[in-house]
Amino acid sequence: MSEKVRHILSLSGGKDSSALAVFMKGKVPEMEYVFCDTGDELQETYEYLDKLEFFLGKKITRINADRPFKHYLALYNGVLPDARTRWCTRMLKIKPYEKFIGNDRVISYVGIRADEPYRTGYIATSERVRAVYPFVENNIRKDDVFKILEDSGVGVPSYYQWRSRSGCFFCFFQQRIEWVGLLERHPDLFKRAMAYEKSDPLTGERFTWVEGESLAELARPERIAEIKAQYAKRVASQKKSQANLGLKDVFVEEDTGGAPCMMCQL
Ligand code: SF4
Repeated sequence: MSEKVRHILSLSGGKDSSALAVFMKGKVPEMEYVFCDTGDELQETYEYLDKLEFFLGKKITRINADRPFKHYLALYNGVLPDARTRWCTRMLKIKPYEKFIGNDRVISYVGIRADEPYRTGYIATSERVRAVYPFVENNIRKDDVFKILEDSGVGVPSYYQWRSRSGCFFCFFQQRIEWVGLLERHPDLFKRAMAYEKSDPLTGERFTWVEGESLAELARPERIAEIKAQYAKRVASQKKSQANLGLKDVFVEEDTGGAPCMMCQL
């Protein structure tokens, strides 16, 4: 008897993996849909997943980390994750996912698009996991992704009105304008993110989400006005160089220290 192969599509709550789920609907009957839930995602993401689940007519399995973010933060001596260390992805997403697939043979469906060959997606450490890229194979690009979501009626996640990516509410890949968005839309979450920031009174070392600036500093009215003005300037200058520029295009301007983790934000 040949060995059973599992087909798994891991959703991040972002547009590309969601569009892939829509695109793949009915093509692989045994497809398993999963979402690695850190427990600190935005409410909008959870609502979006419910909508997607309804459209797919199939359960999206929530894979939870064994311990919450707080636990690992204490383990890492209060050092917040950043683009270089990224222990959060490893402990809260990748490890639970690897536990979920165990030693099974898996075909993993990855939502990398044809117009972004530089992205690699989740790199499995096991040779028993084979990644496939249906969007690349079918020449599906960014605009097609939006069309797939629009045509299906699922649409894009509502957080796209103020934030460009899925992931934890405190994600360090957020740009300053998105932190302002968090403050304005979810002041309670902003406060919670603020509470994770610390400084060492002896050394003066600061652990902040945004490099060189604490959230308390970022939340000052004059600083918010400055961030908004800089953002408006960026949008204006991009609009000049590109016709039909949308919100989705202008968010990717500020350097937040590297490529976002694919497991969280594809
Ligand atoms: S979304 Fe951001 S903070 Fe959350 S696990 Fe991924 S990289 Fe870490």
